[in-house]
Amino acid sequence: MKIPFQNSYVHLGKEFYVKTLPTPVARPELIHFNTAFATALGLDVSTFDPAKATAIFSGNTLPKGAEPLAMAYAGSQFGGFNPQLGDGRAVLLGEIITPNGIRYDLQLKGAGATAFSRNGDGRSALGPVIREYLISEAMAQLGVPTTRALAMVTTGEEVARMQLVAGGILTRLSTSLVRVGTFQYFAARGDEVSIKRLADYVIQRNYPEVQSADNPYYALLVAVINRQAALIAKWMQLGFIHGVMNTDNSSIAGETIDYGPCAFMDTFNEDQVYSSIDHAHRYAYNNQAAIGQWNLIRFAETLLPLLAKGDDQYAAQQAVNLAQDALTAYNTQYHQYWLTGMRAKLGLVLEKAQDQDLIEALLKTMMENKVDFTLSFYYLSQLTKKPSTADQSMRLLFNDAKAFDRWVTQWRTRLSAETLSDTDRQKKMNAVNPVYIPRNHQVEAAIRAAEDHNDFSVFEQLNEVLKTPFVLQQGKDHYRLPPKPEEIVHQTFCGT
Ligand code: AMP
Ligand code: MG
Repeated sequence: MKIPFQNSYVHLGKEFYVKTLPTPVARPELIHFNTAFATALGLDVSTFDPAKATAIFSGNTLPKGAEPLAMAYAGSQFGGFNPQLGDGRAVLLGEIITPNGIRYDLQLKGAGATAFSRNGDGRSALGPVIREYLISEAMAQLGVPTTRALAMVTTGEEVARMQLVAGGILTRLSTSLVRVGTFQYFAARGDEVSIKRLADYVIQRNYPEVQSADNPYYALLVAVINRQAALIAKWMQLGFIHGVMNTDNSSIAGETIDYGPCAFMDTFNEDQVYSSIDHAHRYAYNNQAAIGQWNLIRFAETLLPLLAKGDDQYAAQQAVNLAQDALTAYNTQYHQYWLTGMRAKLGLVLEKAQDQDLIEALLKTMMENKVDFTLSFYYLSQLTKKPSTADQSMRLLFNDAKAFDRWVTQWRTRLSAETLSDTDRQKKMNAVNPVYIPRNHQVEAAIRAAEDHNDFSVFEQLNEVLKTPFVLQQGKDHYRLPPKPEEIVHQTFCGT
């Protein structure tokens, strides 16, 4: 299986990266290979050779055409700026262009120390590799822009975390690994030449449509803001909490990137946090849209020198005005994406003024009644215009059944304005309200089996179910239902 690399990042200049080879590992084993995604990438899977694949995806053999490097970037972490982070445990092997012309970065995460490792070992434990594989691939199937996972290996080496644990390497792909932090890296150094080069690169690669705009850099800012607004609205509609939305984990291409302590909520709670280190709830569920904007302000700041022509005060003011306009529009865009998505979740095709109140009333009563987020919307998708026995499943989720009755009556009144039949509406709702999400306790079970018993079957079964998250699968209720009290995962960890 040949990987036809075509590398462009390496030509940006040596300010952008440090050439770095993956560090070989002792006894790599290929745990999982994503054949479907490999095929979509245009790789010839019929010539797949497990031994060669193991060597490549562990970093032990360098595939032909790869030009490995660690990318430089900075980042605002929990609000505090760090001028130099960079790929401390990831090596970009090169880029692949799919048959549809999409360029992907291919990176080994956990491939050994780099110039940016600081005090870290450059390695990854197997647990976080499994987590990222399961959740990023589930996100892709749920229709959320995300980095993808191609392969997973164990290294045959242990890494020291809270205790010694098995090491792993994830092969992940992204339509661009450039982050807000990459721009900040050059801004912090006053390197406007590199900022322009980076912006031109991003435009050419990820936003070719802005090339012809009067002011392409302003158009880029607007487009990046738009994709980020769309992304975060999707997270909100699925109950996803990223957990570490630092600017270095904020993708310029608008993908979900750097799956650390992320999690899908079970019980709905607006203020939900899972990350063990997010004490101030900076990255809580309901803060994500605002934090997204905070990150985008950091991005806009780095673009200021490009936004208006000239060195005088007038140009500087004009740049600030343009940035402010774009950033203000974020709120409207985000709200529109959120509202459109929520209407779809409620089965509303027409746009009525009272819809927002109806949606907010549902979320409020869901929170008061501590209901399961995913299951509520799944059961809602099965309801009919007239009350029926189907009501019972959703009703039973609510501590106060009367609260459900009150809301569902309002919903039915609103539905009477709609023209779709029950069947047609249910079909639409079932296409946006998943049956299965990677529930924390299931992800945890897959990790425990792998780490404690070298058993990857739990991972395989869960991964299989998550390939079709909108389709009810026979005998898979286990994956559909919320955790039992003793199974609830209360905290998640970066695992770095
Ligand atoms: P993350 O939490 O994955 O977003 O990582 C934040 C920063 O820490 C990035 O610059 C990473 O490359 C770096 N980092 C995380 N874990 C390690 C590790 N085990 N060794 C070296 N650097 C790391
Ligand atoms: Mg990161």
